[in-house]
Amino acid sequence: MKSVKVVVVGAGVVGLSTAVCIAEALPFCSVTLLADKFSPNTTSDVAAGIMFAAQFPDVPQEQQKNWYKDTFDHLLKIAESKQSPEAGVMLFSGYQIFKEVPVQKKPIWAEFVFGFRLMSDRELERFPDHKFGQAFTTIKCECTSYLPWLEKRFRKAGGMVEQRKVNSLEELSGSYDIIVNCSGLGSKTLVDDSQVYSVRGQVLSVQAPWLKNFIRDGDGKTYIFPGIHSVTIGGTRQDDDWRMEVSKEDTEGILQRCCRLEPSLSKAKILHEWVGLRPSRKNPRVEREEVPMHGRKVPVVHNYGHGGYGVTLAWGTALDALGLVRQCLHEMLPQARL
Ligand SMILES: Cc1cc2nc3c(=O)[nH]c(=O)nc-3n(C[C@H](O)[C@H](O)[C@H](O)COP(=O)(O)OP(=O)(O)OC[C@H]3O[C@@H](n4cnc5c(N)ncnc54)[C@H](O)[C@@H]3O)c2cc1C
Repeated sequence: MKSVKVVVVGAGVVGLSTAVCIAEALPFCSVTLLADKFSPNTTSDVAAGIMFAAQFPDVPQEQQKNWYKDTFDHLLKIAESKQSPEAGVMLFSGYQIFKEVPVQKKPIWAEFVFGFRLMSDRELERFPDHKFGQAFTTIKCECTSYLPWLEKRFRKAGGMVEQRKVNSLEELSGSYDIIVNCSGLGSKTLVDDSQVYSVRGQVLSVQAPWLKNFIRDGDGKTYIFPGIHSVTIGGTRQDDDWRMEVSKEDTEGILQRCCRLEPSLSKAKILHEWVGLRPSRKNPRVEREEVPMHGRKVPVVHNYGHGGYGVTLAWGTALDALGLVRQCLHEMLPQARL
């Protein structure tokens, strides 16, 4: 019998990853996933999905490395399996280029991707505005395929799914023993977190099957990422901008900047334009607390605020969230072997 009821709020890449980790590792728990939006309508669906992360100021470096490595290893297994096209996960190679030589020439994740090296002068010749570059093979995870694939995996592990808006965590406390909050930007109101803000991003998907290698400007605003069915080009990073409409001006800016890096894009057909609001925070919040609700203390595990790196860190932070759920269970059921 499933004796402990766990609810996960949020069906983006973070919520689904967390729900799968819990349902697969703790079969004696009944796990329900609640969200008001599912794929293809989440922010995660807009993500270009390249495995790339910046550093958060207050999270220990080792923990950030683990988040990256755990996610990379998990996605690599999928990319190397026959599930790769259905799950939308693939290996790809390319360049990250910089107008000025960065202080940190080798990012903390350099040891996890394949074949990390600095670009040669000859390779840099085609980018006359850029002085420095890194070449490596990494992973692209396309969430419009990956999220439905994860949801299937979650259901297979016995998970239940319900579409519903949650107005306060208190409304869940009567029905569930442990609440896991993966509501991304929704946490601003759901748990009243004033540190959460939006960083707007606009991207285009274009038809350019001749492009196989990615190019990313180190400023994070301009990129060309070939994928399974189309090429994602972007983008924008607009702080505290909550507009969900596609901006014509942004589209023109994206095309202009990307064509400067890859002139053949002027021949590409635009397939789709997307906007997403990155759920940003100074540091992601992966922690647990006991919240008084209706006369009892309810264990709440938070996992949100991944900003522009949610796809890259989702599996790693989901494993940490699973560890926090286990801690809650140990306290609730001290005799149990978990
Ligand atoms: C243009 C763009 C490009 C990006 N590129 C990359 C990239 O290349 N690599 C990378 O790693 N990341 C990238 N990102 C960032 C990535 O998309 C996010 O970090 C990630 O999607 C966050 O996932 P999430 O699950 O936390 O949030 P979301 O995907 O926003 O999911 C939140 C979920 O919570 C639910 N929810 C919220 N509030 C409530 C409520 N009150 N009741 C019920 N449900 C609720 C929502 O309905 C949704 O299901 C990009 C983002 C953008 C916009």
